[in-house]
Amino acid sequence: MTEMRTLKVALLGCGNVGAQVARILIEDADALAARTGARLQLSGIAVRNVSAHRDVELPQELFTTDAETLVKDADLVIELMGGIEPARTLILSALRNGACVVTGNKALLAQDGPTLYEEADKAGVQLSYEAAVAGAIPILRPIRDSLSGDRITRVLGIVNGTTNFILDQMDTTGAQFADALAEAQRLGYAEADPTADVEGHDAAAKAAILASLSFHTRFALDDVHCEGITSVSASDIAAAKDAGFVIKLLAIAEKLTDADGKEGVSVRVHPTLLPREHPLAAVRGAFNAVFIEAENAGELMFYGQGAGGTPTASAVLGDLVSAARRLVLGGPGRTETTTGHVPALPIDAATTSYYIGLDVADQPGVLAKIAQLFAEHGVSIEIMRQTIHRGAGSTVESAELRIVTHRASEAALAATVEAVKGLDVINSVTSVLRVEGV
Ligand code: NAP
Repeated sequence: MTEMRTLKVALLGCGNVGAQVARILIEDADALAARTGARLQLSGIAVRNVSAHRDVELPQELFTTDAETLVKDADLVIELMGGIEPARTLILSALRNGACVVTGNKALLAQDGPTLYEEADKAGVQLSYEAAVAGAIPILRPIRDSLSGDRITRVLGIVNGTTNFILDQMDTTGAQFADALAEAQRLGYAEADPTADVEGHDAAAKAAILASLSFHTRFALDDVHCEGITSVSASDIAAAKDAGFVIKLLAIAEKLTDADGKEGVSVRVHPTLLPREHPLAAVRGAFNAVFIEAENAGELMFYGQGAGGTPTASAVLGDLVSAARRLVLGGPGRTETTTGHVPALPIDAATTSYYIGLDVADQPGVLAKIAQLFAEHGVSIEIMRQTIHRGAGSTVESAELRIVTHRASEAALAATVEAVKGLDVINSVTSVLRVEGV
């Protein structure tokens, strides 16, 4: 019987995810060898501090601060350091040396993905990054492989667990944003500096990756229109709830034709109202889900844990076994295709339904005035509901108007809202939020 080949695996980073990857590589060595056809030998672990305490007990002799030397001698490199440098230089060096690379680094891929993909193509090796979007959920491979014979038309994703937890807290307890954020930080779902999550930057990086694979075109972070959740108020959530909606931070990539007939892809991240019966509305707490619409497959949904050391390690190991099998069997790496050549459209080209909250004077003819103004701007109203707020002695203090429109362009909606603000019967525009799934 021929001896099984051994492949050297260099691990860069031993934090939340890296430590679990190292544990599984050691504990499950026999099962992984049986599935791969080669033994995956952990040849070293590069860290900043070799004597730091680790969550997992690992052989001390594996640790090094010399990542460059470790990478030079590896068949497979797993990058789980995070950040741009030295991760970028180390990945490029690994690819040039002919090693396959697995990474979970969405920030790096969103910033400089094309350089890395091109280097992998040139070297004929695999660069895999399933863990970079939605943690444990197998989503990139289904888009890239399973749906490669179909045409994806739209992707809607809850891809940031922190913001989903905060919005879910606000929805279930009526809390304000700041209190829900503090609770998320207390439970470890949000970092001390939550900017990347709550401003939507993390979701935008993932949106760029999802759009690139779904539409066979490389989209960069600059192509993504990004709005976070910091301005979502408890009253927005309450009004949405009252009208049968839930607010989620969605990463959206969809094929559109703009007003001039130009085809393109709109890639955007923003708080969005979803009908409570939409499958994504049921995604609670810090969970993630991605909803895909494809011409032939129809609607698909992928759901699971979007973060956490052990769940994310599952996605990393899946990529590692796949890359290692290719090294055993031979042949070039399987990369994403970039034959789509569809332009990214600006946010003005996107059309969605809108929810508009208005604080209005309670006078006869107000509803007719508002409806006429919407009609003049070509924005058609689907639902208009008025709630009267009474003070002492049943005198009317104010009236609240909630409007849901049919699909309209961003430009038409913005012009309508500006015109509405100018009406003498309007006290204030209390919220303007996009709606999907109606
Ligand atoms: P982490 O806990 O902060 O761990 C980072 C590790 O990298 C640490 O072991 C650190 O060494 C090492 N490191 C950082 N800079 C280094 C440098 N300059 N030289 C050598 N070693 C360095 O990070 P993580 O949460 O495991 O995340 C790793 C990657 O996975 C990130 O790209 C992240 O975006 C991605 N990801 C994470 C999750 C998640 O749930 N955590 C989910 C999906 C994707 P020391 O320990 O010595 O400081």
